[in-house]
Amino acid sequence: MKIGANPNWFANNPLLRLNNEKDSTAFIRARLADPDSLMIPLWQGDPLVIDGKKAGFLSTAARSEFPQGATTVFLGLKNDRAYFGIDASATSQAPETAAFADIGEYMSLRMAASELNRDDLAVIGHARWLIEWRRTHQFCSACGHETDLQLGGAKSQCPNCEAIHFPRSNPVAIVLATHKDACLLGRGPSWPPGFLSALAGFIEAGETPEEAAKRELFEEAGIMLTDVRYQFSQPWPFPASMMMGFIADAEDRDLNLDTDEIEEARWVAKSDIRLLLDKDENAPEGIFVPPRFTIARQLLEIWAR
Ligand SMILES: [Zn+2]
Repeated sequence: MKIGANPNWFANNPLLRLNNEKDSTAFIRARLADPDSLMIPLWQGDPLVIDGKKAGFLSTAARSEFPQGATTVFLGLKNDRAYFGIDASATSQAPETAAFADIGEYMSLRMAASELNRDDLAVIGHARWLIEWRRTHQFCSACGHETDLQLGGAKSQCPNCEAIHFPRSNPVAIVLATHKDACLLGRGPSWPPGFLSALAGFIEAGETPEEAAKRELFEEAGIMLTDVRYQFSQPWPFPASMMMGFIADAEDRDLNLDTDEIEEARWVAKSDIRLLLDKDENAPEGIFVPPRFTIARQLLEIWAR
């Protein structure tokens, strides 16, 4: 796949990450002090959104409105302007009264994903990834001491035992299983009836993504895959999954569902998938395909078109 050709939301981040420059604490400090630099506030991972559709980037001069020590992460440069993310969670118990909620709203990222432009969304996904990692991993996993953020938030180091920690990406195999002219869609027990998607599972230690794809489909649906083809990946900041998308051939259509994992699964004809994607009035009722910002939707799009 050509660079930039990835169809997935949260991919194709427009910022230069500048990993070499980030070694310099002075560089980041100077960029933070530059009022031309921009920062996006997030309250418990949800971005500030203005007028319901615009990312709420603020000048870094607004940092004075945030508590000292509010996690601030460097995201990269575009046109020589630096971008940061800042954690607004400590400014209020509720998003409605958090810092700068008077000029916009802290919108759930899933909702924002349908409203914001894709460049901003990729930048915000990166910010959320780092800030949520810091919020939940402040202490050294080797000795328990509080760690210091380094490289603008891209890693942390323990001042006690010097162990270095990196933000985790949890790998997931997501698989659109197909058999002739139909594909398998299912839903977990916590999803509303009819909201169907490709099946997915975490890749386990020592496993290839292809092996995980095969194992998941067999464990969850009793389906044997005969061929598994990698398509593309998606950074999925809910909070830190690296989704790897596959289209696969199934041996047959005989389902044997693990009902703890999958409440409902069914084979859907390609012609019906096309109608569903097009929101055609003749589309089958009671089935809802995943929204455009999901990798499952992109797998359906390339398979069905
Ligand atoms: Zn330590």
